[in-house]
Amino acid sequence: MEEVLYHSTRSKGAAVRASEAILKGLAGDGGLFVPDHIPALDKSLSELADMTYRQTAYEVMKLYLTDFTEEELKSCIERAYDSKFDTEEIAPLREAGAPGSYYLELFHGATIAFKDMALSILPHLMITAAKKNQVKNEIVILTATSGDTGKAALAGFAGVEGTRIIVFYPKNGVSPIQEKQMVTQKGDNTLVVGIHGNFDDAQTGVKKLFSDKELAAEMDRKGFQFSSANSINIGRLVPQICYYVYAYARLLKRGAIEEGEQIDVVVPTGNFGNILAAYYAKHMGLPIHKLICASNENKVLYDFFRTGTYDRNREFVLTSSPSMDILISSNLERLIYHIAGNDPEKNRELMNGLSRDGVYEITAEMKGALKDFCGYYADEAETAEEIKRLYERDGYVIDPHTAVASRALQKYLQENGGASGEGPRTVIASTASPFKFTRSVMNAIDKKYDSMGDFELADELSRISGVKVPKALDEIRTAPVVHDKQCDTDRMEDVVRDFLKL
Ligand SMILES: *Cc1c(COP(=O)(O)O)cnc(C)c1O
Repeated sequence: MEEVLYHSTRSKGAAVRASEAILKGLAGDGGLFVPDHIPALDKSLSELADMTYRQTAYEVMKLYLTDFTEEELKSCIERAYDSKFDTEEIAPLREAGAPGSYYLELFHGATIAFKDMALSILPHLMITAAKKNQVKNEIVILTATSGDTGKAALAGFAGVEGTRIIVFYPKNGVSPIQEKQMVTQKGDNTLVVGIHGNFDDAQTGVKKLFSDKELAAEMDRKGFQFSSANSINIGRLVPQICYYVYAYARLLKRGAIEEGEQIDVVVPTGNFGNILAAYYAKHMGLPIHKLICASNENKVLYDFFRTGTYDRNREFVLTSSPSMDILISSNLERLIYHIAGNDPEKNRELMNGLSRDGVYEITAEMKGALKDFCGYYADEAETAEEIKRLYERDGYVIDPHTAVASRALQKYLQENGGASGEGPRTVIASTASPFKFTRSVMNAIDKKYDSMGDFELADELSRISGVKVPKALDEIRTAPVVHDKQCDTDRMEDVVRDFLKL
């Protein structure tokens, strides 16, 4: 197998092996690691159709993580995709909304959001990578979260020897259940802090800490080094490619498509990690026609795909899909690098524009290279309508993030004449369980639910949907709050220093 090396989106210098890229998280120059080439699937689609999730994951991940041995990789996969998931299928498909549209349920893991798909394996990849590279330092995972990454990373890293994890979340920018999930996290190696700012502030603060050379040197002297569990880490991205391959293979297996038939994919997007994984899947040879990027009212990406200008200078809106309330989609940098013809200079120039002015414009040629994508968005009313539509049509309840994608698909079909059901089969990434956003979901179905408490709503949701209340929710009903720290965005470094006793 040809080795895949990783280098920064901002310079082609020092290429590193996969395990080093996972350990580092972010490249030294502030860029993101990208593979030097996108490997092609080396199993046929019909072979993949007979594989389990774990087998599929191995076939995809072995092509990217080329310095992991077969034994190492299989061991990571087996520990990750086990009974923490409440279904053998790991990521089941559910046809709903219209004939030929399939919801890929990525929320059957420990924290009932799609972040579990990657974060249940990342700690194992990281510990393996640390061993391979003779790392002696304790690894400090530093994470900014818009709600779901935080809990999924905490669940993955809590109690893992040789690691600590610090999570920053926007104090007023996550759902009550998301917050409760995080602040009840047990484990001496964990720290959860609410910041007085939004997700972009948290992410910018974390990136600043990562690139602080003095801090890194001091930490190294005390036996620590940072790494990232955010989707900028290639160890997050690669496991996310697997479920697109798996979804295609499942559709083939059940006879919904023929081998080689193209499908459309719709992804509710925030930091652009999930949809970028679908882009990589496509370029590995998976027959994907369009990548439909769905945004909520923070529709920076929608505007970008329409105009070629990325402009974060706008009002930040708090919506019912908080994990997509993002104006700086970090992983877009990887796509920009690729459509610039894998040109780090060009990419760096644009990223400098973004940090200086909050805006950049791509060239006409680059815009031409965006043909794989199109952008749609749904506002708050449309999102609620879509939840209600699916419930009334099929008795199927989706969360607000998935509803944004689902509504975006309706708009895409209207604009492209596919509403007849003759168009390609579609996979909609269903990124969270409705039980994580009970209030928005139940209010969308009927306003009468507004007077109920959060957990009462969960029981009612269970009753009307016929789905059991997930274990993840039951666990936090009575769990005590163990984290109550808050800080201003300019005090994040102090919080880190305190926790590590620097
Ligand atoms: C994180 C998240 C998203 C956005 O995914 P990105 O990879 O950041 O684009 C969408 N929905 C849910 C529920 C999430 O947790």
